[in-house]
Amino acid sequence: MSLVERDLQVIWHPYTQMKTAQPPIPIVRGEGTCLYAEDGKKYIDAISSWWVNIHGHSHPYIAKKIAEQLLQLEHAIFAGFTHPGAVELAERLLAILPSNQAKAFYSDNGSTAVEVAIKMCLQYWHNKGEQRTKIIAFKNAYHGDTFGAMSVSGRSAFTAAFDSLLFEVEFIDLPNANNIEALKSQISGLKSQISSFIFEPLVQGSAGMIMYEARYLDELMAHCRTEGVLLIADEVFTGFGRTGKAFACNHVETQPDIMCFSKGLTGGTMAFGLTTCTQDIYDAFLSDDKMKTLFHGHSYTANPVACAAALASLDLFLEASTQQNIDRIVAKHAAFAKKVKGHRSLKATRQTGTILALEWETGNNTSYFSCLRDKLYHYFLNAGIILRPLGNIIYILPPYCITDHELDYIYATIEQALNEI
Ligand SMILES: *Cc1c(COP(=O)(O)O)cnc(C)c1O
Repeated sequence: MSLVERDLQVIWHPYTQMKTAQPPIPIVRGEGTCLYAEDGKKYIDAISSWWVNIHGHSHPYIAKKIAEQLLQLEHAIFAGFTHPGAVELAERLLAILPSNQAKAFYSDNGSTAVEVAIKMCLQYWHNKGEQRTKIIAFKNAYHGDTFGAMSVSGRSAFTAAFDSLLFEVEFIDLPNANNIEALKSQISGLKSQISSFIFEPLVQGSAGMIMYEARYLDELMAHCRTEGVLLIADEVFTGFGRTGKAFACNHVETQPDIMCFSKGLTGGTMAFGLTTCTQDIYDAFLSDDKMKTLFHGHSYTANPVACAAALASLDLFLEASTQQNIDRIVAKHAAFAKKVKGHRSLKATRQTGTILALEWETGNNTSYFSCLRDKLYHYFLNAGIILRPLGNIIYILPPYCITDHELDYIYATIEQALNEI
């Protein structure tokens, strides 16, 4: 039996409509920007393998650091114990995060980083004896697939089977020049019940790379701060250079109370989650009273191998050449967006940092819309490019090591698709 046949016997893939799905493509090797299939076909990973990869696949430096760590200490319980990697990673990350971030809490992935953030906020008020149990989130938000993370995400086809079980959240519009004052009044009206406001800063990834302006986010954040509403910046996707700066929160003045990280944290090498918070939040749990404890901890919390991967990825991230690469991608994306702007097949183009999104024109033809996504997906796969459209929106967010030549090939293929599809 081939690998694909064996897969179809035993594997349940995520986000896959099983009856109509195409068989998966077997990938056997990764190097730099590319993934190599069993049959030798090469794919440019233009979406960084679901947004996680920032330095390219099977990076030898990260691999070496992981191998060394595995021989030194593979794992140790993190309740009542510590190890050098966990401490060094927290020290080095807190040093480059907004200056109010003071403590690091490790978990396993982006969804758990969000769960931890939500629990910190809800229990913060509980510990202070205040009845603030509601959360504000943006419409169409995506914060993960576990129940708390789903609850603070927009209701959609993804959540439909569970909607009645999700806790109630106050969903607000993305801020802009026209609605910012109304949003602020809305928050002021609710403030006494609101524990926190969770948001994806600057870019709503899963919603379709929806982008909004930093200055209105900043205004909203500042307003929440004056109303005592805690700010949770979910940087699971935007962290580590995606928006052009190290963190999306570097685009605003107001500092969040809590930040969530995963995806790029280990350079895309392995699962890991991190939630950071201020001293003030930490202090609300610092007590002789056992009931004030944050009773949350995953078996693999602060796994030393994951810490080693994150430290190695951070070394690479802080090299001057990485920021140069990010700047290069930003400039090339902008030039391409300018070139295709106004194309009859395009409804809109938008860019934040290394993320470029192109929205295909669909007119009013809904049957066309439903098959467009698959058409685009396979068009690019045939050309050896992994682009995974969200409906009629295609987006490029490559590993930062992508070459100009590879980018030009992706742009040229997109132009061809614009003319043909
Ligand atoms: C992907 C994502 C998550 C969930 O992360 P997982 O590691 O997939 O659980 C949470 N928030 C945002 C903004 C994301 O893009």
